[in-house]
Amino acid sequence: MAFEGLSERLQKVFSSLKGKGKLSEDDVRAVMREVRMALLEADVNFDVVKGFVKQVRERALGSEVMDSLTPSQQVIKIVDDELTKLMGEEAVPLNKAPHIPTIIMMVGLQGAGKTTTAGKLAKYLMANDKARPMFIAGDVYRPAAIEQLKVVGEQVGAPVYDEGTDKDPVDIVRNGLKQAEENKNDYVIIDTAGRLEIDDKLMDELARIKELAHPNEILFVADAMTGQVAAKVAHGFDEQLDITGVVLTKLDGDTRGGAALSIRSVTGKPIKFIGQGEKLDQLDVFHPDRMADRILGMGDMLTLIEKAQTDYDAKQAEEMAEKIRENSFDFNDFIDQMDQVQKMGPLDEIMKMIPGMANNPQLANVSIGEKDIDHLKAIVYSMTPKERENPDLLNPSRRRRIASGSGRNIQEVNRMIKQFKQSRDMMKQMSKGNMNGLDQMMGG
Ligand code: GDP
Repeated sequence: MAFEGLSERLQKVFSSLKGKGKLSEDDVRAVMREVRMALLEADVNFDVVKGFVKQVRERALGSEVMDSLTPSQQVIKIVDDELTKLMGEEAVPLNKAPHIPTIIMMVGLQGAGKTTTAGKLAKYLMANDKARPMFIAGDVYRPAAIEQLKVVGEQVGAPVYDEGTDKDPVDIVRNGLKQAEENKNDYVIIDTAGRLEIDDKLMDELARIKELAHPNEILFVADAMTGQVAAKVAHGFDEQLDITGVVLTKLDGDTRGGAALSIRSVTGKPIKFIGQGEKLDQLDVFHPDRMADRILGMGDMLTLIEKAQTDYDAKQAEEMAEKIRENSFDFNDFIDQMDQVQKMGPLDEIMKMIPGMANNPQLANVSIGEKDIDHLKAIVYSMTPKERENPDLLNPSRRRRIASGSGRNIQEVNRMIKQFKQSRDMMKQMSKGNMNGLDQMMGG
């Protein structure tokens, strides 16, 4: 998962503050030295780190006092605030043209993820904006690139305009735009060529496409795994093309975080989306505040909730919340939830978004697979309706019957009932709305 390394280091730094009644200037200085090291190790741009540390130190030593927080929690809050600022404060939506089509131009180095991201964006716009996008294949140097875009187009169900590899991309874009106008496509996504590094010929071509198409968005696609190099390259593209935003890809494989933390500061342009996997639905709107919380190990409840809601009807969610409040959450609801969870994606990823779980050492050894869920379901299905509604009925002889009925052993049944009760209690805690993230992080 993204930012593991940085998360772990920062949490270690903060846990050294645990239990301190008042922070001396020396304490703050020592902590900031560690934070600085952690950020540099995460491959964050040097100037960005310098500015960040200065800002946090000033605020931590300043007169900022909040009665509700302990001094160490206050430092964490300041770091959280400043990390958020560093990444841009708020999510910035895509620009939209006053008249159709909105034109989005994807630019970036080869292999950064332009074509994949073009497909993800189309899918996102189709789902969220009922869009009818069209792609233009503007990378004429690699026949495979056109083929790849066609595959992506087929997967999302959007047309691809191409003229093979022999024409000037500027002409292709001109003709493509004409076609989009005839077909009344509301979005046009232009895939462009990339190189292994910035060169004049490429920039010149991109500038000519820009001049012709007047895109509403020029999205620089950056590979997060390249760390602060991504910020440097983004700066280069921005100087030449005046980009409008950044999509950070491969965040799923980025344990350090240098790109996400540097790019906004270095370019002044917002990160609009993040790619978190190769699949076409693995694109998320970038929320700086949530990302900061995640880096600090407070999990990312909001993303989790949003993810759940895409598949989960709000009314059902409200009913569930009500049940948890009333403590009438039973095994039938548990099964419903398991179904929802299975729809949401890889379970271990989801677990890590829950506050306190991100760096939970117990989680490191647990991998919950689809099969495990099927086993849990088999156990629940072997209960009588009464037992499902009232877990307290489950005495040892009923448990033995359930074990043989489901083909699982008795230890497994016991464990699952125990876990069910624990999660019910935990959900009840969470539904009371107490923000225990910070406390948990400080070790209680
Ligand atoms: P392009 O040359 O810029 O068009 O890059 P591609 O779209 O061809 O992507 C290059 C490789 O990166 C492909 O193997 C993609 O599947 C992969 N890729 C793109 N985005 C992501 C992402 O968010 N996460 C991961 N893990 N892989 C990605």
